Amino acid sequence: MVNGYAAASLREALEIRASRDVVPYAGGTDLMIENRKGVRYLFLNKVPELKAVAVDDRYVRIGAAVTFTEALACPDVPRLMKEALSRIAAPAIRNAGTFGGNLGNGSAKADTALIEVAADGKVCLASAEGGRVVDVDKFYLGRKKLDLADNELITEILLPKKGLEQYSYEKVGGREALAISRVSFAGVFAAENGKITNIAAAFGAVADTILRYKDIEAMLLGKTVQEAKGLKADYLNAYAQRMTLTRGRVSAEYRKRVCMNLLNGFLTKFGI
Ligand SMILES: Cc1cc2nc3c(=O)[nH]c(=O)nc-3n(C[C@H](O)[C@H](O)[C@H](O)COP(=O)(O)OP(=O)(O)OC[C@H]3O[C@@H](n4cnc5c(N)ncnc54)[C@H](O)[C@@H]3O)c2cc1C
Repeated sequence: MVNGYAAASLREALEIRASRDVVPYAGGTDLMIENRKGVRYLFLNKVPELKAVAVDDRYVRIGAAVTFTEALACPDVPRLMKEALSRIAAPAIRNAGTFGGNLGNGSAKADTALIEVAADGKVCLASAEGGRVVDVDKFYLGRKKLDLADNELITEILLPKKGLEQYSYEKVGGREALAISRVSFAGVFAAENGKITNIAAAFGAVADTILRYKDIEAMLLGKTVQEAKGLKADYLNAYAQRMTLTRGRVSAEYRKRVCMNLLNGFLTKFGI
C-alpha cells in the first residue's frame, strides 16, 4: 500500500514538502521500481500548476507533472524534444512518466534531460519561501546528486522557443525499441549571416552526469562553416582527449567510439 499526501495546489504541495518528510511522486515509473519501505509520498499529478504547457516571449514552459504523452500531443513542444519523447519506453510509461520525474531521478540516462542540456534549458524550482531558476546542466551535481533542497520541488522546465530547429538526435540502446539509452546524443546547430552562432553537443548515459563541453564548442562559434571544416580535426581531437566515460553494461571504449561517431555525424550533417 502506498501512503502519502495528495496535494490539490502548488501552494499545498510546497507546504507539505516544507513541513513533512515526504518523497515527491509524479508518475511513479522510477519510484515504483525502487519500492521504498516506510516512506510517505507527496503526490503531484493532480496539481494543476504543474500540469500546464505555456509559452512566454522566450521559452516554452513545461510543467513538471506534464506526462510525455501530453507533451507529444502539444504543438508548442519543440520537435527535438518530441523526437526524444517518442523514443522513451512504451506508451504505458509515456502515459505516466513526467518531465519533473525524469530530471528528479538524477540519472544521466534521462532522455528529456539530455535535450534540456543541449538546448540550454532551465529548471524552475520552488519552495514555500520562493523560487529560483537553474540551468539544467548545473542542476546535475554528480551521480544521482541534484541541486535540489529538501523543501523544494521542480515546477517547470524551460526550453528556448527559438533556435532548436536544426539538430541531430540519436539514441543507441540495446535494441531498436523499448530500450534505456546506452549512449544518447543531442546536437543543436544555428548560423546567422554565414557565421555559426550555436553548436551545442550533449552526451547522455556515458558518465555520472550528462556531458557537454562549452569551451570546446567555443572553438567553432563565430566561424563560417568553411572555417569550421578546417578546424574539425582539432575539434574532434579536443573531445577525444576530454571525454572520460564510465563503464556501464558496455565498455567505455565502445561508448567513446559511438560518441565520437555521433559527434562527427552531427558536424557532417551541417556541412562541417
Ligand atoms: C520500463 C521502463 C522504461 C523506461 N524507459 C525510459 C527511457 O527510455 N528513457 C528515460 O529517460 N527514462 C525511462 N524510464 C525511467 C522513467 O520512466 C523516467 O525517468 C520518468 O521520467 C520518471 O518520471 P515519473 O513522473 O514517473 O517520476 P517518479 O517515479 O514519480 O519520480 C522520479 C524521481 O523524481 C522525483 N520527483 C518527481 N517529480 C518531482 C518534482 N516535481 N520535484 C522534485 N522531485 C520530483 C521523485 O521524488 C523521484 O526521486 C523508464 C522506466 C521504466 C519503468
